[in-house]
Amino acid sequence: MSQHISFVQREELKNKPASDALGFGVHYTDHMFVMDYEEEQGWHDPRIVPYGPLTMDPAAMVFHYGQAIFEGLKAYTTPEGTVQLFRPDRNMKRFNQSCERLHIPKIDEDFLLNAIQQLLLTDKDWIPNQEGTSLYIRPYVFATEPFIGVRPSKQYKLLVILSPVGSYYGDQLSPVPIYVEEKYIRASVGGVGEVKTAGNYAASMKAQKEAEAKGYSQILWLDSKENKYVEEVGSMNIFFKINGEVVTPALSGSILNGVTRNSVIELLNHWGIPVREEKISIQEIFDAHERGELEEVFGAGTAVVISPVGELTWNDQTIQVNDKNIGSLSQRLYDTITGIQFGKIEDEFNWTV
Ligand code: PMP
Repeated sequence: MSQHISFVQREELKNKPASDALGFGVHYTDHMFVMDYEEEQGWHDPRIVPYGPLTMDPAAMVFHYGQAIFEGLKAYTTPEGTVQLFRPDRNMKRFNQSCERLHIPKIDEDFLLNAIQQLLLTDKDWIPNQEGTSLYIRPYVFATEPFIGVRPSKQYKLLVILSPVGSYYGDQLSPVPIYVEEKYIRASVGGVGEVKTAGNYAASMKAQKEAEAKGYSQILWLDSKENKYVEEVGSMNIFFKINGEVVTPALSGSILNGVTRNSVIELLNHWGIPVREEKISIQEIFDAHERGELEEVFGAGTAVVISPVGELTWNDQTIQVNDKNIGSLSQRLYDTITGIQFGKIEDEFNWTV
């Protein structure tokens, strides 16, 4: 696909938020990328236009049957003032895997990455450069055909919007308490858990709110079949350091293949720290704690990079991880990954673009 991206400049630019009060996903930039799909034309009319409301037919299929997928990645400002992306090819690939699973027509990955780069250039003044801040990039597709029979839509819209975001932790990682969920399930093998579709997140809200009401910050999800094996934590992948070795649940078909997860595994391999991807039961984790071998637990994802777990509650039993302190491996991974993302340490892996 080598279509020309048309451009409509916003007439009156918005006021930019103060860089110390960005939050996450609150502010949006001046422009957005839009592209349409119709069966006869394929993906067409790519354009960068002023950010603003969309007009949708009330019968648009996304409202009824939820054919909607998305991605999330960030643009980072380096100390030299250049802007870089972190392994965006992986997000583009996963975008198409999500499309495929939801029976949404695929896009040209190089074209989408190029469109994102053009949008970043258009709104480059919005890319924050204060310590720890970045520009969150949200590409997404949804079904727009006005039809309420159940079948795949024949029309879609693809958008990319940009949001300047603050540093999640300030300057200090803080371990969080986690609730091991036994009543609700996030995803099942053969379902849609391994792709980024809106319904996965809709299905997790009630459980998340109930856990929050009990004083936990996130949920640890177990497998749908036996309610026994660890899957993910909140919307992050999870890692355990047990007796000097790191384990993370193997990609089972209901776990999202995280970009951060893969980067953690590659870094550990590079450092010579043993890391295994395998089926791992919550009982094994509690047993390891009992033996005094559970050294660190952390989540990994784009939004927070590394999120240390300080406490796990399962079945009315609560264990403290590393006396609620940040483990040295969690800290090292956080420092290294953010160091590469922000161009502060050498990118030996060629991860940045
Ligand atoms: N699991 C889920 C369910 C997620 O939504 C995310 C965030 N995309 C992740 C894991 C982490 O993936 P990544 O490292 O690619 O952000």
